[in-house]
Amino acid sequence: MDSHEHILWAMREMERLGHNRGASGNCSLRLAHAQDQMLITPSGVPAQQLQADMLVTLELHRSDPIASLGTALGRHQSTLKPSSEWRFHRDIYLQWPEIHAVVHAHSPFATTMACLGQDIPAFHYMIAVAGGDSIRCTPYALFGSQALSDVAITALQDRKACLLGQHGMIATGKTMSDAMRIAIEVESLCEIYWRALQIRSPMLLNDQEMQQVIEKFKTYGPTT
Ligand code: 13P
Ligand code: ZN
Repeated sequence: MDSHEHILWAMREMERLGHNRGASGNCSLRLAHAQDQMLITPSGVPAQQLQADMLVTLELHRSDPIASLGTALGRHQSTLKPSSEWRFHRDIYLQWPEIHAVVHAHSPFATTMACLGQDIPAFHYMIAVAGGDSIRCTPYALFGSQALSDVAITALQDRKACLLGQHGMIATGKTMSDAMRIAIEVESLCEIYWRALQIRSPMLLNDQEMQQVIEKFKTYGPTT
């Protein structure tokens, strides 16, 4: 698959899994042949209508990447804009050179927890999939704003995913399938946490137990 196909696959997969509905959510890839560029979904286009030539290339270092769109949108130039969330996609790539894929979803359970505005604590060892002993939740900020990007970058320090207050979630990865794996796990963890909370507040793993998991994850799974 090339970069365009990876993005179409991720958007359709998130729709199929019920993580995004309609035009909610977006995703991007750092371009392999031009590390200072990203390919991102257009704004407001439902996954089912997305086509490869609707994806937008943006330069990471331009202060106003929209002004440089020009030919990037080809025949869609007059009708399509890049995702309204291009700022947090760009800022994640600028902050973490090892990250090559970013997905954003309004998946139901992650968004439910994000509406409660609380971090997801270490109630299950798989929390370590997100990179640490919690999944942080940002304060609320307007969609598409620099303020949202700023709080997301803070919540993603030493983490691969975060919740966005009263909004949804972000997952990052070295590849699109890596970012999707993390997004799916975060949604699943939020579902289990929500279910557990219906009964009572679950017990939490302590720092030492989570540190052991984080260490063990370093050698878990197939070697690449
Ligand atoms: P875009 O269609 O502009 O990507 O917006 C969807 C979204 O989820 C905004 O946060
Ligand atoms: Zn959103």
